Amino acid sequence: MDIVESLRQILPVEQISTQPDELEVVSQDESTLPGVTPLAVVWALNADEISKIVKLCYENATPITTRGAGSALEGSTIPLENGIVLDLSRMNRITNFWPEDLQVKVEPGIIYDNLNDQLKRDGLFFPPSPGGSGDVATVGGMVSTNASGIYSVKYGGTREYVLALEVVTGTGEIIRLGNRAIKRSSGYSLVELIAGSEGTLAVISSITIKLAGLPEDRLQTAYKFKNETDAARAVSEMRRYGLDLAAIEFLDRRLMAALNQLKNYGLEEVPALFLEFHGPRPVLESNSELVESICFELGAEKLELADGQRPWEVRHDATDAVKHYKPGYSIIRNDVAFPISRLPEMVAYCHELSDQHDITMFTFGHVGLGLLHALMLARQDNKTEWNAAHDISNRIIEKTIELGGTISGEHGIGLGHKDLFAKEHGAAVELMRKIKRQFDPKNILNPGKIFDV
Ligand SMILES: Cc1cc2nc3c(=O)[nH]c(=O)nc-3n(C[C@H](O)[C@H](O)[C@H](O)COP(=O)(O)OP(=O)(O)OC[C@H]3O[C@@H](n4cnc5c(N)ncnc54)[C@H](O)[C@@H]3O)c2cc1C
Repeated sequence: MDIVESLRQILPVEQISTQPDELEVVSQDESTLPGVTPLAVVWALNADEISKIVKLCYENATPITTRGAGSALEGSTIPLENGIVLDLSRMNRITNFWPEDLQVKVEPGIIYDNLNDQLKRDGLFFPPSPGGSGDVATVGGMVSTNASGIYSVKYGGTREYVLALEVVTGTGEIIRLGNRAIKRSSGYSLVELIAGSEGTLAVISSITIKLAGLPEDRLQTAYKFKNETDAARAVSEMRRYGLDLAAIEFLDRRLMAALNQLKNYGLEEVPALFLEFHGPRPVLESNSELVESICFELGAEKLELADGQRPWEVRHDATDAVKHYKPGYSIIRNDVAFPISRLPEMVAYCHELSDQHDITMFTFGHVGLGLLHALMLARQDNKTEWNAAHDISNRIIEKTIELGGTISGEHGIGLGHKDLFAKEHGAAVELMRKIKRQFDPKNILNPGKIFDV
């Protein structure tokens, strides 16, 4: 019996499909990499079902790509043609809530915004908002990519919030990792190892996370700069002075133009910083005054948004704005991260490269974390342009590594940046291969992602 028939024996009919339209949906993620049609898609409803599915795939050596919402940007959710997709979007409940401890236990398929909508009633939230995808991204997907967002400057990324996990390993064994203590010194932290592992070590079936209290008050502001490097300098200065920022986002002038083109926002097409402060009113006012003096010293001015325009709604359209800027062009992206003092140098380097090679580039991101997205547009059928854009992307990554940074600050490696992974990690890649074999001896969990075994 083939694997699809075997899966049909253990799953109700509504939890497995080989329908072309359903396979099409799960064949890709939000990267511009080509999709791959799997043999079938299955929906699990609990850990026992996940375990049964994995055990069957283990016996048949069938690859499994676990899927939340498929909003990943580096191809990490693209399946294999001889494999199945294990879709966990129907496991979307809160299963336990301890408001007095600021903790919640959820199934992996719960959507980020839905979780926060429910927590709001108790004055709590799960802070690492994944920007423009918060309305679709699942908490399981966020843990698996160690997602971060606009508020990670103040509150940290997803990994820092995960206390405990229930996972199913590549043999189908169900294991509980971690506990509800927020400080621990008890053995290896396997919870942190799973966070960011892009579905290559285990399938996450339950997640316990800590939460933060909703801020007492918020203040939003924005500044415009004469050039991109000065905006980057301002960020680096603010971090050096240890200012308490909840969010600080950089948008270059081309991105502002793309946002206008997408939604007629009427934004001034200048390099900008969007900021938010959290806390009691006097504290946020004094912080924002200090920020303003740093910006003014660098020749910046206040940027006024149109009445009623919400900065984060504008910012969340960034990816879409780039996607639609030049019809017929594809995005070549990276999401490097490096020590914050190097931000001005990196921004200048990116713009220098794109000018030299006449490639349309957009730079933006959660820069308070030293995280920068450089997105380029090129036509796949124009080999010179396509190769030039890839070459620029590789040079940005190589420079990041030289500066002590990382290939990926938030989107993961997936298939997109696999080729440069060893440059960052060197001999540690072999150790990672050995670890992968312990969790997944037959290499069935999302094989071919991050590195080759
Ligand atoms: C417009 C837009 C804006 C974005 N902005 C941001 C941003 O600001 N910050 C950011 O970090 N990301 C951002 N992303 C990327 C993406 O939304 C995040 O990586 C998100 O965390 C992925 O969640 P998902 O549920 O879609 O995961 P998926 O794409 O379904 O999966 C991502 C990876 O996790 C694995 N996985 C998923 N669920 C599980 C599980 N339960 N067990 C084991 N492995 C699992 C998958 O196999 C895959 O490797 C953005 C994407 C878009 C389209």
